[in-house]
Amino acid sequence: MDKCSLCGRPENEVNMLFTGVEGHICDECIERGHQILMEDKKSTGSFSVGDIKLLKPKQIKEFIDQYVIGQEHAKKVLSVAVYNHYKRLSQPVTDDDIDIEKSNIIMVGETGTGKTLLARTIAKMLHVPFTIVDATVLTEAGYVGEDIESLLTRLLQAADYDVEAAERGIVFIDEIDKIARKGDNPSITRDVSGEGVQQGLLKLLEGSVVNVPPQGGRKHPEQKMIALNTKNILFVCGGAFEGIDRVIAKRMNTQVVGYGYHKIQEQVDKENILKYIIPDDIRKFGLIPEIVGRLPVLTHLDPLDRDALKRILVEPKNSIIRQYIKLFEMDNIKLEFAEDALEFIVDQAVSFKLGARGLRSICESIMLEAMFDMPTGKQKEFKVNRKYAESKLNKNEAVKYKNVG
Ligand code: ADP
Repeated sequence: MDKCSLCGRPENEVNMLFTGVEGHICDECIERGHQILMEDKKSTGSFSVGDIKLLKPKQIKEFIDQYVIGQEHAKKVLSVAVYNHYKRLSQPVTDDDIDIEKSNIIMVGETGTGKTLLARTIAKMLHVPFTIVDATVLTEAGYVGEDIESLLTRLLQAADYDVEAAERGIVFIDEIDKIARKGDNPSITRDVSGEGVQQGLLKLLEGSVVNVPPQGGRKHPEQKMIALNTKNILFVCGGAFEGIDRVIAKRMNTQVVGYGYHKIQEQVDKENILKYIIPDDIRKFGLIPEIVGRLPVLTHLDPLDRDALKRILVEPKNSIIRQYIKLFEMDNIKLEFAEDALEFIVDQAVSFKLGARGLRSICESIMLEAMFDMPTGKQKEFKVNRKYAESKLNKNEAVKYKNVG
Protein backbone atom coordinates (compact mmCIF):
# COMPACT_ATOMS: atom_id res chain seq x y z
CA MET A 1 0.00 0.00 0.00
CA ASP A 2 1.24 3.53 -0.78
CA LYS A 3 2.40 5.64 2.15
CA CYS A 4 2.97 9.33 2.75
CA SER A 5 6.68 9.84 2.21
CA LEU A 6 6.75 12.51 4.93
CA CYS A 7 4.75 11.13 7.86
CA GLY A 8 4.70 7.51 6.77
CA ARG A 9 0.99 6.99 7.21
CA PRO A 10 -0.57 4.52 4.80
CA GLU A 11 -3.19 5.46 2.24
CA ASN A 12 -6.10 4.08 4.26
CA GLU A 13 -5.31 6.30 7.26
CA VAL A 14 -5.42 9.61 5.41
CA ASN A 15 -8.11 11.47 3.51
CA MET A 16 -6.09 11.90 0.39
CA LEU A 17 -2.70 10.86 -0.86
CA PHE A 18 -1.04 12.86 -3.61
CA THR A 19 1.42 11.07 -5.83
CA GLY A 20 4.59 12.74 -7.05
CA VAL A 21 7.42 11.54 -9.26
CA GLU A 22 9.23 9.70 -6.50
CA GLY A 23 6.86 9.57 -3.57
CA HIS A 24 3.57 10.53 -1.99
CA ILE A 25 2.29 13.22 0.34
CA CYS A 26 -0.88 13.19 2.41
CA ASP A 27 -3.38 16.01 2.83
CA GLU A 28 -2.42 16.59 6.44
CA CYS A 29 1.25 17.09 5.63
CA ILE A 30 0.30 19.58 2.94
CA GLU A 31 -1.84 21.50 5.38
CA ARG A 32 0.84 21.47 8.04
CA GLY A 33 3.38 22.67 5.49
CA HIS A 34 1.10 25.47 4.47
CA GLN A 35 0.67 26.53 8.08
CA ILE A 36 4.42 26.63 8.64
CA LEU A 37 4.88 28.73 5.54
CA MET A 38 2.22 31.19 6.59
CA GLU A 39 3.70 31.50 10.09
CA ASP A 40 7.12 32.08 8.62
CA LYS A 41 5.73 34.77 6.37
CA LYS A 42 4.17 36.50 9.35
CA SER A 43 7.35 36.40 11.40
CA THR A 44 9.79 37.50 8.71
CA GLY A 45 7.27 39.90 7.29
CA SER A 46 8.35 39.24 3.73
CA PHE A 47 6.17 37.93 1.01
CA SER A 48 7.06 35.68 -1.81
CA VAL A 49 5.12 35.53 -5.00
CA GLY A 50 6.45 32.66 -7.03
CA ASP A 51 10.14 33.49 -7.08
CA ILE A 52 9.62 37.19 -6.34
CA LYS A 53 10.90 38.19 -2.90
CA LEU A 54 9.04 41.27 -1.91
CA LEU A 55 10.69 43.98 0.12
CA LYS A 56 8.86 46.46 2.34
CA PRO A 57 8.04 49.87 0.83
CA LYS A 58 10.95 51.57 2.62
CA GLN A 59 13.36 48.97 1.32
CA ILE A 60 11.92 49.26 -2.17
CA LYS A 61 12.55 52.99 -2.05
CA GLU A 62 16.09 52.46 -0.80
CA PHE A 63 16.72 50.22 -3.78
CA ILE A 64 15.32 52.80 -6.21
CA ASP A 65 17.42 55.52 -4.52
CA GLN A 66 20.54 53.83 -5.80
CA TYR A 67 19.52 54.49 -9.37
CA VAL A 68 17.11 57.42 -9.42
CA ILE A 69 17.92 60.87 -8.10
CA GLY A 70 15.28 63.03 -6.43
CA GLN A 71 11.63 62.32 -7.29
CA GLU A 72 10.90 61.60 -3.64
CA HIS A 73 7.17 61.69 -4.03
CA ALA A 74 7.05 59.43 -7.05
CA LYS A 75 9.38 56.96 -5.38
CA LYS A 76 7.22 56.77 -2.28
CA VAL A 77 4.03 56.34 -4.28
CA LEU A 78 5.59 53.67 -6.49
CA SER A 79 7.10 51.77 -3.57
CA VAL A 80 3.72 51.48 -1.92
CA ALA A 81 1.93 50.63 -5.16
CA VAL A 82 4.39 47.91 -6.07
CA TYR A 83 4.32 46.51 -2.56
CA ASN A 84 0.55 46.35 -2.59
CA HIS A 85 0.41 44.92 -6.06
CA TYR A 86 2.61 41.96 -5.28
CA LYS A 87 1.08 41.56 -1.83
CA ARG A 88 -2.20 41.22 -3.63
CA LEU A 89 -0.75 38.44 -5.76
CA SER A 90 0.42 36.61 -2.68
CA GLN A 91 -2.88 36.82 -0.89
CA PRO A 92 -4.29 33.39 -0.15
CA VAL A 93 -7.82 32.70 -1.29
CA THR A 94 -10.03 33.59 1.64
CA ASP A 95 -13.74 33.82 2.07
CA ASP A 96 -13.83 37.27 3.64
CA ASP A 97 -14.90 38.81 0.34
CA ILE A 98 -12.13 41.39 0.51
CA ASP A 99 -10.58 41.42 -2.90
CA ILE A 100 -7.62 43.76 -3.17
CA GLU A 101 -7.95 45.51 -6.48
CA LYS A 102 -5.16 46.05 -8.91
CA SER A 103 -3.44 49.43 -8.78
CA ASN A 104 -2.01 50.37 -12.13
CA ILE A 105 0.11 53.47 -12.06
CA ILE A 106 0.28 56.68 -14.07
CA MET A 107 3.23 59.05 -13.88
CA VAL A 108 3.09 62.56 -15.23
CA GLY A 109 6.27 64.52 -15.77
CA GLU A 110 8.42 66.29 -18.30
CA THR A 111 10.52 64.24 -20.67
CA GLY A 112 13.82 63.00 -19.31
CA THR A 113 12.91 63.25 -15.63
CA GLY A 114 13.10 59.53 -14.89
CA LYS A 115 9.70 57.95 -15.59
CA THR A 116 11.08 55.09 -17.65
CA LEU A 117 14.03 54.73 -15.34
CA LEU A 118 11.73 54.33 -12.34
CA ALA A 119 9.68 51.60 -14.00
CA ARG A 120 12.78 49.83 -15.25
CA THR A 121 14.43 49.96 -11.84
CA ILE A 122 11.42 48.41 -10.17
CA ALA A 123 11.36 45.57 -12.69
CA LYS A 124 15.06 45.05 -12.10
CA MET A 125 14.50 44.83 -8.37
CA LEU A 126 11.72 42.30 -8.72
CA HIS A 127 13.37 40.28 -11.48
CA VAL A 128 10.09 40.22 -13.35
CA PRO A 129 9.66 40.41 -17.12
CA PHE A 130 9.50 44.03 -18.21
CA THR A 131 8.74 45.75 -21.45
CA ILE A 132 8.42 49.32 -22.67
CA VAL A 133 5.85 50.18 -25.27
CA ASP A 134 5.28 53.49 -26.92
CA ALA A 135 1.58 54.29 -26.96
CA THR A 136 1.97 56.25 -30.18
CA VAL A 137 2.60 53.10 -32.22
CA LEU A 138 -0.53 51.39 -30.95
CA THR A 139 -3.57 51.53 -33.11
CA GLU A 140 -6.95 49.94 -33.24
CA ALA A 141 -7.05 46.58 -34.96
CA GLY A 142 -7.25 47.08 -38.69
CA TYR A 143 -5.32 50.35 -38.76
CA VAL A 144 -1.71 50.79 -39.80
CA GLY A 145 0.50 50.32 -36.75
CA GLU A 146 0.66 47.77 -34.01
CA ASP A 147 -2.34 46.08 -32.48
CA ILE A 148 -2.79 46.63 -28.77
CA GLU A 149 -2.05 42.96 -28.13
CA SER A 150 1.45 43.49 -29.45
CA LEU A 151 2.48 44.95 -26.13
CA LEU A 152 1.74 41.58 -24.56
CA THR A 153 3.76 39.87 -27.29
CA ARG A 154 6.72 41.91 -26.17
CA LEU A 155 6.16 41.03 -22.54
CA LEU A 156 5.93 37.39 -23.48
CA GLN A 157 9.19 37.67 -25.38
CA ALA A 158 10.81 39.41 -22.40
CA ALA A 159 9.69 36.41 -20.33
CA ASP A 160 11.14 33.91 -22.80
CA TYR A 161 7.60 32.74 -23.50
CA ASP A 162 7.12 31.70 -19.87
CA VAL A 163 3.41 32.54 -19.64
CA GLU A 164 3.28 32.38 -15.86
CA ALA A 165 6.19 34.79 -15.50
CA ALA A 166 4.73 37.16 -18.09
CA GLU A 167 1.47 37.20 -16.18
CA ARG A 168 3.32 38.73 -13.22
CA GLY A 169 5.36 41.17 -15.28
CA ILE A 170 5.38 44.92 -15.68
CA VAL A 171 4.44 46.80 -18.84
CA PHE A 172 5.54 50.41 -19.15
CA ILE A 173 3.40 52.34 -21.58
CA ASP A 174 5.20 55.51 -22.57
CA GLU A 175 3.61 58.61 -24.05
CA ILE A 176 0.14 57.64 -22.89
CA ASP A 177 -0.80 61.32 -23.31
CA LYS A 178 -0.41 60.98 -27.07
CA ILE A 179 -3.52 58.81 -27.32
CA ALA A 180 -5.61 61.38 -25.49
CA ARG A 181 -8.75 62.66 -27.07
CA LYS A 182 -8.19 66.19 -28.23
CA GLY A 183 -10.23 68.63 -26.22
CA ASP A 184 -12.50 68.24 -23.26
CA ASN A 185 -15.76 67.80 -25.10
CA PRO A 186 -16.23 64.24 -26.31
CA SER A 187 -19.27 64.96 -28.46
CA ILE A 188 -17.77 67.67 -30.63
CA THR A 189 -14.13 66.68 -31.00
CA ARG A 190 -14.30 62.95 -31.27
CA ASP A 191 -10.88 61.69 -31.98
CA VAL A 192 -11.78 58.22 -33.10
CA SER A 193 -8.44 56.53 -33.37
CA GLY A 194 -7.11 57.83 -30.06
CA GLU A 195 -10.26 56.83 -28.29
CA GLY A 196 -10.29 53.44 -29.97
CA VAL A 197 -6.82 52.73 -28.69
CA GLN A 198 -7.90 53.78 -25.23
CA GLN A 199 -10.83 51.38 -25.38
CA GLY A 200 -8.52 48.59 -26.44
CA LEU A 201 -6.10 49.40 -23.69
CA LEU A 202 -8.87 49.44 -21.15
CA LYS A 203 -9.48 45.76 -21.67
CA LEU A 204 -5.88 44.97 -20.79
CA LEU A 205 -5.75 47.30 -17.80
CA GLU A 206 -8.91 45.83 -16.35
CA GLY A 207 -7.58 42.34 -16.53
CA SER A 208 -8.79 39.86 -19.08
CA VAL A 209 -7.64 36.84 -20.98
CA VAL A 210 -6.13 38.00 -24.24
CA ASN A 211 -5.06 35.90 -27.18
CA VAL A 212 -1.55 37.01 -27.95
CA PRO A 213 0.25 36.34 -31.23
CA PRO A 214 3.62 34.99 -30.00
CA GLN A 215 5.51 36.44 -32.97
CA GLY A 216 3.53 39.66 -32.90
CA GLY A 217 2.29 41.60 -35.88
CA ARG A 218 0.02 40.45 -38.61
CA LYS A 219 2.73 38.92 -40.72
CA HIS A 220 2.29 35.46 -39.32
CA PRO A 221 -1.41 34.66 -39.63
CA GLU A 222 -0.73 30.97 -39.10
CA GLN A 223 0.82 31.37 -35.64
CA LYS A 224 -0.89 29.74 -32.70
CA MET A 225 -2.17 32.28 -30.21
CA ILE A 226 -1.12 32.14 -26.58
CA ALA A 227 -3.74 33.00 -23.98
CA LEU A 228 -2.43 35.50 -21.46
CA ASN A 229 -4.31 36.74 -18.42
CA THR A 230 -3.55 40.39 -17.71
CA LYS A 231 -5.19 40.36 -14.29
CA ASN A 232 -1.89 40.42 -12.41
CA ILE A 233 0.23 42.35 -14.87
CA LEU A 234 1.22 45.73 -13.48
CA PHE A 235 0.75 48.51 -15.99
CA VAL A 236 2.75 51.65 -15.45
CA CYS A 237 1.94 54.53 -17.76
CA GLY A 238 3.97 57.64 -18.31
CA GLY A 239 3.53 60.85 -20.21
CA ALA A 240 4.60 64.47 -20.35
CA PHE A 241 1.00 65.71 -20.75
CA GLU A 242 2.22 68.94 -22.20
CA GLY A 243 -0.18 71.73 -21.34
CA ILE A 244 -1.75 69.96 -18.38
CA ASP A 245 -0.27 72.64 -16.13
CA ARG A 246 -2.85 75.00 -17.60
CA VAL A 247 -5.64 72.55 -16.80
CA ILE A 248 -4.40 72.29 -13.22
CA ALA A 249 -3.91 76.02 -12.83
CA LYS A 250 -7.37 76.72 -14.18
CA ARG A 251 -8.96 74.28 -11.79
CA MET A 252 -7.05 75.69 -8.86
CA ASN A 253 -7.95 79.24 -9.74
CA THR A 254 -11.62 78.48 -9.95
CA GLN A 255 -11.57 76.40 -6.81
CA VAL A 256 -9.96 78.88 -4.53
CA VAL A 257 -12.03 81.94 -5.29
CA GLY A 258 -13.44 83.43 -2.12
CA TYR A 259 -12.27 83.28 1.42
CA GLY A 260 -8.61 82.38 1.76
CA TYR A 261 -7.93 82.93 -1.92
CA HIS A 262 -4.82 85.04 -1.44
CA LYS A 263 -3.43 82.84 1.24
CA ILE A 264 -3.64 79.79 -0.98
CA GLN A 265 -2.32 81.63 -4.01
CA GLU A 266 0.78 82.61 -2.06
CA GLN A 267 1.53 79.06 -1.10
CA VAL A 268 1.18 77.62 -4.57
CA ASP A 269 4.47 76.41 -5.99
CA LYS A 270 4.19 77.93 -9.44
CA GLU A 271 7.43 76.35 -10.60
CA ASN A 272 6.02 72.89 -10.16
CA ILE A 273 2.31 73.04 -10.75
CA LEU A 274 2.28 69.33 -11.61
CA LYS A 275 2.43 68.41 -7.97
CA TYR A 276 -1.20 69.47 -7.60
CA ILE A 277 -2.40 67.05 -10.26
CA ILE A 278 -5.54 65.01 -9.60
CA PRO A 279 -7.14 62.28 -11.76
CA ASP A 280 -9.77 64.65 -13.11
CA ASP A 281 -7.06 66.77 -14.74
CA ILE A 282 -6.00 63.72 -16.73
CA ARG A 283 -9.56 63.17 -17.83
CA LYS A 284 -9.88 66.79 -18.90
CA PHE A 285 -6.69 66.35 -20.86
CA GLY A 286 -8.38 63.65 -22.88
CA LEU A 287 -8.06 60.22 -21.34
CA ILE A 288 -11.43 58.55 -21.13
CA PRO A 289 -12.83 58.27 -17.58
CA GLU A 290 -12.66 54.47 -17.67
CA ILE A 291 -8.91 54.58 -18.30
CA VAL A 292 -8.42 57.18 -15.58
CA GLY A 293 -10.35 54.89 -13.25
CA ARG A 294 -8.09 51.98 -14.10
CA LEU A 295 -4.97 53.97 -13.29
CA PRO A 296 -5.76 54.77 -9.68
CA VAL A 297 -2.20 55.47 -8.59
CA LEU A 298 -1.30 58.89 -9.93
CA THR A 299 1.99 60.59 -9.30
CA HIS A 300 4.07 63.38 -10.77
CA LEU A 301 7.75 63.84 -11.42
CA ASP A 302 9.53 67.02 -10.49
CA PRO A 303 11.43 68.99 -13.10
CA LEU A 304 15.17 68.43 -12.70
CA ASP A 305 17.08 71.45 -11.50
CA ARG A 306 20.79 72.10 -11.82
CA ASP A 307 21.58 70.35 -8.60
CA ALA A 308 19.62 67.25 -9.60
CA LEU A 309 21.30 67.10 -13.00
CA LYS A 310 24.71 67.23 -11.40
CA ARG A 311 23.83 64.45 -9.00
CA ILE A 312 22.48 62.36 -11.89
CA LEU A 313 25.80 62.72 -13.61
CA VAL A 314 27.80 61.20 -10.76
CA GLU A 315 25.69 59.57 -8.08
CA PRO A 316 23.58 56.70 -9.45
CA LYS A 317 25.12 53.25 -9.32
CA ASN A 318 25.46 53.24 -13.08
CA SER A 319 25.80 56.99 -13.57
CA ILE A 320 27.09 58.29 -16.88
CA ILE A 321 30.43 59.32 -15.36
CA ARG A 322 30.90 55.90 -13.76
CA GLN A 323 30.21 54.32 -17.12
CA TYR A 324 32.95 56.32 -18.84
CA ILE A 325 35.39 55.54 -16.04
CA LYS A 326 34.65 51.86 -16.47
CA LEU A 327 35.02 52.04 -20.25
CA PHE A 328 38.46 53.62 -19.89
CA GLU A 329 39.41 51.22 -17.13
CA MET A 330 38.95 48.40 -19.61
CA ASP A 331 41.83 49.96 -21.58
CA ASN A 332 43.81 50.39 -18.34
CA ILE A 333 43.34 54.16 -18.39
CA LYS A 334 42.48 56.04 -15.23
CA LEU A 335 39.84 58.59 -16.14
CA GLU A 336 38.82 61.52 -13.96
CA PHE A 337 36.47 64.44 -14.33
CA ALA A 338 37.38 67.76 -12.75
CA GLU A 339 34.66 69.57 -10.82
CA ASP A 340 34.61 72.45 -13.33
CA ALA A 341 34.06 69.98 -16.18
CA LEU A 342 31.02 68.56 -14.41
CA GLU A 343 29.66 72.06 -13.84
CA PHE A 344 30.15 72.84 -17.50
CA ILE A 345 28.31 69.68 -18.62
CA VAL A 346 25.40 70.54 -16.34
CA ASP A 347 25.24 74.11 -17.66
CA GLN A 348 25.05 72.79 -21.18
CA ALA A 349 22.34 70.29 -20.26
CA VAL A 350 20.27 73.07 -18.70
CA SER A 351 20.52 75.09 -21.91
CA PHE A 352 19.57 72.05 -24.00
CA LYS A 353 16.30 71.73 -22.03
CA LEU A 354 16.21 67.97 -22.46
CA GLY A 355 16.25 67.05 -18.80
CA ALA A 356 18.76 64.36 -18.01
CA ARG A 357 18.60 63.13 -21.59
CA GLY A 358 20.90 65.96 -22.66
CA LEU A 359 23.67 64.86 -20.28
CA ARG A 360 24.46 61.72 -22.21
CA SER A 361 24.80 63.30 -25.63
CA ILE A 362 26.88 66.17 -24.27
CA CYS A 363 29.26 63.70 -22.63
CA GLU A 364 29.45 61.67 -25.83
CA SER A 365 30.52 64.73 -27.80
CA ILE A 366 33.12 65.64 -25.22
CA MET A 367 34.52 62.14 -24.92
CA LEU A 368 34.46 61.07 -28.56
CA GLU A 369 38.00 61.95 -29.51
CA ALA A 370 39.52 60.56 -26.33
CA MET A 371 37.58 57.34 -26.83
CA PHE A 372 38.87 57.17 -30.38
CA ASP A 373 42.53 57.96 -29.72
CA MET A 374 43.39 56.72 -26.27
CA PRO A 375 42.93 52.95 -26.64
CA THR A 376 45.90 52.96 -29.04
CA GLY A 377 47.91 55.62 -27.21
CA LYS A 378 50.41 55.42 -24.36
CA GLN A 379 48.76 57.76 -21.90
CA LYS A 380 47.50 55.91 -18.81
CA GLU A 381 45.81 58.76 -16.96
CA PHE A 382 43.39 61.32 -18.23
CA LYS A 383 41.61 64.15 -16.48
CA VAL A 384 38.80 65.97 -18.24
CA ASN A 385 38.62 69.60 -17.20
CA ARG A 386 36.38 72.44 -18.27
CA LYS A 387 38.77 73.73 -20.89
CA TYR A 388 39.00 70.36 -22.57
CA ALA A 389 35.23 69.79 -22.39
CA GLU A 390 34.50 73.21 -23.80
CA SER A 391 36.90 72.81 -26.71
CA LYS A 392 35.49 69.42 -27.69
CA LEU A 393 31.89 70.50 -27.42
CA ASN A 394 32.50 73.63 -29.46
CA LYS A 395 33.87 71.46 -32.22
CA ASN A 396 30.59 69.64 -32.46
CA GLU A 397 28.64 71.11 -35.37
CA ALA A 398 25.25 70.19 -33.95
CA VAL A 399 25.92 71.95 -30.66
CA LYS A 400 26.78 75.23 -32.39
CA TYR A 401 23.30 75.43 -33.74
CA LYS A 402 21.43 74.21 -30.72
CA ASN A 403 19.73 77.51 -30.10
CA VAL A 404 18.68 78.05 -33.67
CA GLY A 405 15.01 77.55 -34.48
P1 ADP B 1 11.42 59.87 -19.14
O1 ADP B 1 10.90 58.48 -19.22
O2 ADP B 1 10.86 60.64 -17.97
O3 ADP B 1 11.32 60.66 -20.40
P2 ADP B 1 13.93 58.57 -18.71
O4 ADP B 1 13.63 57.78 -17.48
O5 ADP B 1 13.95 57.82 -19.98
O6 ADP B 1 12.98 59.81 -18.82
O7 ADP B 1 15.32 59.32 -18.49
C1 ADP B 1 16.26 59.49 -19.52
C2 ADP B 1 17.65 59.25 -18.97
O8 ADP B 1 18.00 60.29 -18.07
C3 ADP B 1 17.76 57.97 -18.18
O9 ADP B 1 18.37 56.96 -18.91
C4 ADP B 1 18.60 58.32 -16.99
O10 ADP B 1 19.94 58.01 -17.23
C5 ADP B 1 18.51 59.79 -16.84
N1 ADP B 1 17.62 60.23 -15.75
C6 ADP B 1 16.46 60.91 -15.88
N2 ADP B 1 15.94 61.21 -14.70
C7 ADP B 1 16.77 60.70 -13.77
C8 ADP B 1 16.76 60.69 -12.34
N3 ADP B 1 15.78 61.28 -11.63
N4 ADP B 1 17.78 60.05 -11.72
C9 ADP B 1 18.77 59.48 -12.42
N5 ADP B 1 18.84 59.47 -13.77
C10 ADP B 1 17.85 60.07 -14.44
